[in-house]
Amino acid sequence: MTDAVVIGSGPNGLAAAIRLAQAGVDVTVLEAADRPGGGTRTSELTLPGLLHDDCAAFHPTGVVSPYLASLDLHEHGLTWDYPEIDLAHPLDDGRAGLISRDMDVTAESLGVDGRRWARSLGAQARNFDRLVGEVFQPIVHVPRHPVALARFGAQAALPATWAVRRWRDEPAKALAMGVAAHAFGRLDRPLSSSVGLMLTAAGHAAGWPVAHGGTGAISTALVRLLESLGGAVRTGVEVTSLTQVEEPLGRRPDVVLLDTSPAAALRILGERISARVRRQLGRYRYGPAVHKVDFAIEGDIPWTAAATRRAGTVHVGGAAAEIAAAEAATGRGEMPDRPFVLVGQQYLADPSRSRGTVNPIWAYAHVPHGYTGDATAALVDQIERFAPGFRDRILATVVRGPAALESYNANYVGGDINVGANTARQVVLRPRIAVDPYRLGDGLYLCSAATPPGPGVHGMGGFHAAESALRRL
Ligand SMILES: Cc1cc2nc3c(=O)[nH]c(=O)nc-3n(C[C@H](O)[C@H](O)[C@H](O)COP(=O)(O)OP(=O)(O)OC[C@H]3O[C@@H](n4cnc5c(N)ncnc54)[C@H](O)[C@@H]3O)c2cc1C
Repeated sequence: MTDAVVIGSGPNGLAAAIRLAQAGVDVTVLEAADRPGGGTRTSELTLPGLLHDDCAAFHPTGVVSPYLASLDLHEHGLTWDYPEIDLAHPLDDGRAGLISRDMDVTAESLGVDGRRWARSLGAQARNFDRLVGEVFQPIVHVPRHPVALARFGAQAALPATWAVRRWRDEPAKALAMGVAAHAFGRLDRPLSSSVGLMLTAAGHAAGWPVAHGGTGAISTALVRLLESLGGAVRTGVEVTSLTQVEEPLGRRPDVVLLDTSPAAALRILGERISARVRRQLGRYRYGPAVHKVDFAIEGDIPWTAAATRRAGTVHVGGAAAEIAAAEAATGRGEMPDRPFVLVGQQYLADPSRSRGTVNPIWAYAHVPHGYTGDATAALVDQIERFAPGFRDRILATVVRGPAALESYNANYVGGDINVGANTARQVVLRPRIAVDPYRLGDGLYLCSAATPPGPGVHGMGGFHAAESALRRL
């Protein structure tokens, strides 16, 4: 029987393992941590009974992922819960731009720009089914829907700082810039609109849901499915060299997939891959980091902009120009006074995360790569700015800066949760220039968020890497 070992049990590693097991391959997943899931785990971080997402929280890419949709994860316990409003971006003047599956809600929040937003983003959302297959694979491919891809590509190619000029008023400008900032770093570079445009279209088409009971439900469902197909996950096994995988078998497994950073792949595979691939992986660049803070709070966050109190995700950074400047600073390695902050109010969609009137709040600030300072006060100040009184409601806090995140999950090199800078080059050609970007050598594949289509809980990197391996078996 053909056998495979997958190193790392994030959503990409598990998706790769499932795809191989579906094809009859005998698969074992080796995971360094004591629980599977990588960026898809949920823990009682602050107070007993409060469920916090350790990493990923909102799942626009999960709900639209063609591969995850093809798996009956509901059967294995996964249910999506939807907030009333998917995303809110509050401003200092009390207004807030909103993203909703109901385009009328968005249009109304955007005032003078509302109708134009609805026309433009509505078209992308209507085409999303066609678009998603195109953008969730290596960018260099023969498109099945060239018109949908060309329309998307024309807008996605623009620097975000240019793209927002089409909007006349601040709610639309800031809303677009905040979503673009999911790319991290400089927003005045070509293709810096691409991540935001995809997330916005996904939000209008399918929403930004949360997993019922916590993001951990996604990995639990994937592991259950894998086990039902005969695969196995072994936790507490950090792989440091390929020899470690070979020794128990007395030979190399037919396929080895790495759900790791390119830097770890380089260390594990060493001389087993060609000098050219080693050079390419060595040149791979990592981007800015996050400083994560989880809070237990009494009641709700007292946002000034009322609609924000009903939103799952909140972008906290003020006006578009301010966000672009803060992102440029973290890109340069400088900590801005007012960082861009994401806040998650998952409990609004999924009250099972709370205990009585005490609610879990998930938040992170964008900080420079490897930042060693404490950004907690700056993060709290940003929330307080749009929700005076927030500080008084905090009951408990758990902080994880870049170093703590990297020791939690080695893929977050220097605290970079995207596992690679979203430079124009790495948006198009990650992790390296190659016809098959997943294949590192004979029977050796990279399948993590460092491969196309990049970060997010969608499993598509794992799926494509497994397809590549299956084609060659
Ligand atoms: C704070 C934070 C917030 C986020 N928010 C969102 C969000 O809201 N929505 C979203 O879609 N995405 C979000 N993400 C990103 C998302 O979690 C990742 O893009 C996704 O998990 C990537 O999946 P992956 O399978 O490539 O790798 P990961 O999920 O990172 O998993 C990699 C696994 O490999 C293991 N591993 C690494 N090296 C080794 C080794 N040598 N030996 C054995 N095991 C190893 C790690 O322990 C880990 O379990 C967030 C991430 C963070 C950190």
